[in-house]
Amino acid sequence: MDERRKALLSGLPKIDELMALLEKRGIYEKAPREIVRATCRQVVGELRDAIRGTGSGKTSMRLPVAEQVADQITEIIAGLHRYRLRRVVNATGTILHTNLGRAPLCREALERIQEVGGGYSNLEFDLARGQRGLRYDHIRDILCVLSGAEDALVVNNNAAAVLLILNALAEGKEVIVSRGELIEIGGEFRIPEVMAKSGAHLKEVGTTNRTRINDYENAIGENTGLILKVHTSNFKIMGFTEDTGLASLAALGKRHGVPVMEDLGSGCFLELDHYSLPREPTVSDVMETGVDVVSFSGDKLLGGPQAGIILGKRELLQRIKKNPLNRAVRIDKLTLAALEATMIQYLRPEKAACRLRVLKTLTEPLTEVTKRAKRLLAMLRRSRLKGLVLSLKKGFSMAGGGSLPICEIPTALLAIQPECMSAGALEERLRRLDVPIIARVAEEQVLFDLRTVEEEEFTFIRDGLKRAVST
Ligand SMILES: *Cc1c(COP(=O)(O)O)cnc(C)c1O
Repeated sequence: MDERRKALLSGLPKIDELMALLEKRGIYEKAPREIVRATCRQVVGELRDAIRGTGSGKTSMRLPVAEQVADQITEIIAGLHRYRLRRVVNATGTILHTNLGRAPLCREALERIQEVGGGYSNLEFDLARGQRGLRYDHIRDILCVLSGAEDALVVNNNAAAVLLILNALAEGKEVIVSRGELIEIGGEFRIPEVMAKSGAHLKEVGTTNRTRINDYENAIGENTGLILKVHTSNFKIMGFTEDTGLASLAALGKRHGVPVMEDLGSGCFLELDHYSLPREPTVSDVMETGVDVVSFSGDKLLGGPQAGIILGKRELLQRIKKNPLNRAVRIDKLTLAALEATMIQYLRPEKAACRLRVLKTLTEPLTEVTKRAKRLLAMLRRSRLKGLVLSLKKGFSMAGGGSLPICEIPTALLAIQPECMSAGALEERLRRLDVPIIARVAEEQVLFDLRTVEEEEFTFIRDGLKRAVST
């Protein structure tokens, strides 16, 4: 090692020296001694690596003085106190944005989380009998009333629901699935792989574009455990296609004594076609087909917390509830509290369409969205933001979250053209704000889709834009 590097290494601040400096600055208000010491070691270690790593020609590196290193450590420790999981403004126009937390909760759900989560509750206590109860019982009746199902169970999410059902009803047996429905949802959820993990054996039938009832019937044998239908949530096959309706599958299952399940994906309780959206069969429509078990998410079109909802015949649900995997994927009390409040909204469907933000956003008429866009434009014009050319445009929002995949929902966009930086640079600055604003960029403009932005968020946008152009 050359002399210059040796000198740099011996000039590094000592840990004890840094600790003394930091103590004077009151660092122990923010973190205990062990954490402070570990952070000092980490920062000094990085400096040491940097010195060792510099090429032999590049020995011009300047060593920070102890005060500067202490600044850096103070900043790291202050950073530990800052929340990483934060609210953002979703200006993307994707309503169920999986990366942005999918469904925002309604006020009632939030209140219930606070009330139930902040104290003790009867989570697993039967108040009438004074003995142990089941957590699923709180939500069972409302789910059954709203869907027409005999019994209900709720787990951590829909992926867990599918895994649990397959394991409980078909471990070691064959599950018949159409080749047109061997889907990937995103992340790690692929039907053939979930099937393998569940211990059930996939029995593919039909073709990608056409699967008929005979294909299913011919595949039924000694070892058939289940017939599975999967909602092809995030894509559509068009043209020369044929699929077998759930009602005929349910009848086929009944004839052969094989249970029939549908992974519904989204699960919708509102008649979407009343709001000029494409018709999705509601959960009650699905139950009416005679299907034995269905599962869907709590945080897609339902508009509630992350959860996997399982509805169906009592005898099958009992088997699913008793399966050991159920304990591993069970729902927690906060989710249960929020889900119960969400489901109660559906007792008055027109109100649910306003109260649950996912549904409100999805069904809001374009005229209302446009009015909101005009109000935002006027507010931003009043605040005289420099270096931004603002205008309104027409565009399309998306349902997202694998729901209504080919449906383009007309919307109003606020287009922002920065004069002194690229649109990409502005988009990045907006993303790095304390309350980040997540927007789209197209044709050198930053686009805010007003369908997913609420009036209450306008001040974040105004203040955020101000900051983004001033720094
Ligand atoms: C979204 C989806 C899932 C996964 O649901 P999560 O609640 O995200 O776990 C499974 N199946 C289908 C058809 C889906 O659309």
